[in-house]
Amino acid sequence: MLNVTNKDGIVNVQVSGLINEDIHLNKLSLNGAKGVVFDFANVDAINSIGVKMWIGYLGEIPQNVPTKYVNCPRVFVDQMNMVMGFKPKHIAVDSFFVPYYCDECSKVQPTLYNNGKEFDTSGKINHPQKVECPKCKVPMQMDVMEAKYFMFLKRK
Ligand SMILES: [Zn+2]
Repeated sequence: MLNVTNKDGIVNVQVSGLINEDIHLNKLSLNGAKGVVFDFANVDAINSIGVKMWIGYLGEIPQNVPTKYVNCPRVFVDQMNMVMGFKPKHIAVDSFFVPYYCDECSKVQPTLYNNGKEFDTSGKINHPQKVECPKCKVPMQMDVMEAKYFMFLKRK
């Protein structure tokens, strides 16, 4: 599902639920738009038909409109790494989640990495010094393979 708002010419699109054959990708009105921000914080899952539909949908957005992805969850990062065109070159990733795991209670905590803080556009990564389990107060471990998970940042 898409929830579209417009604030001062920036079109904000909150995507939630499943990106699959049932998603309704309503056409954005971009007349006079200064930018588009896609927020994926509430995306639960993506299937291969959804991937194709999403790539088709991006094709309708003029490349000269600055476009960003924010709050990309793990399911979204996985697709950016696997599928060329899911994050086209002209689209910037401003923030994404990295899952951290607690050995004590097995909790997985998605931790937000922000452009200019935990990573930069050159692909440099600055992991947070410590991610603490909110329950056990012990340091958590990154729950992904670094070489794979951060690949999309290095792809030019
Ligand atoms: Zn814990």
